[in-house]
Amino acid sequence: MNASIVDAHIHFDLYQEEDRRKILKSLEANRIESMVTVSSHLTSGIKNLMIAQDDKRIKPALGYHPEQPLPSKEEIEGITSLARRYSSSISAIGEVGLPYYSRKEDPSIDVEAYVNLLEHFIKLAAELNKPIVLHAIYQDAEIVCDLLKKHNIRNAHFHWFKGSAATTQTLIENDHYISVTPECVYKPKIQKLIDVYPLNRIMVETDGPWPFKGPFKDKMTHPAMMHDSIAKISEIKGLPLQMVYHIIQQNTVKFFRI
Ligand SMILES: [Zn+2]
Repeated sequence: MNASIVDAHIHFDLYQEEDRRKILKSLEANRIESMVTVSSHLTSGIKNLMIAQDDKRIKPALGYHPEQPLPSKEEIEGITSLARRYSSSISAIGEVGLPYYSRKEDPSIDVEAYVNLLEHFIKLAAELNKPIVLHAIYQDAEIVCDLLKKHNIRNAHFHWFKGSAATTQTLIENDHYISVTPECVYKPKIQKLIDVYPLNRIMVETDGPWPFKGPFKDKMTHPAMMHDSIAKISEIKGLPLQMVYHIIQQNTVKFFRI
């Protein structure tokens, strides 16, 4: 059975080098076809590009993670020129978005500045004709949907999406993609999301090295965990496992053009 999968969102640069080597060695045995490695900032982007040079199964994306202080003007310019220069080597612009968790901790942060930065990356994705990988949850997803509409962008991936029924509906209507992490195996809220979201707009990811709980407690996050996610999706959707593997793999390959 062809049950290979793509990790639609991993921070491969954040693993220790030894762990990276171990993961790469075990990809084939675990039927992991490729991994979209998103970047957190400029040096993270350079590292991901370098890792991808040595292994074609690594599909790098360039961006600036929103859950950190705003970048300098030079850093934004650095990421932008890197994306332009390596446009043919990158799979997407990401990870970009809005600082939901940072704002919860510090309500005084300048959201407007983050919105402007995100708009810059949305324009860059449009200019380079690349999909965009978003960190935008709960009410932030609504703001991002408006921005995407403004720039006529449909090819958007809301990774590890969480949101109200209404926001979920907005994403569905706009044809945007979501991805679920291994958390879907044990989190009822995510299982409910899988139930309502169209399967042809769902991908799977690990967001590794982010650690998980439940059956994955104390384990290093490995893309092989996504096989459990697929099994859960198949159970929730009431569809044959093989079909779910195929649809999700196709969604990811088509979305990232990899
Ligand atoms: Zn991430």
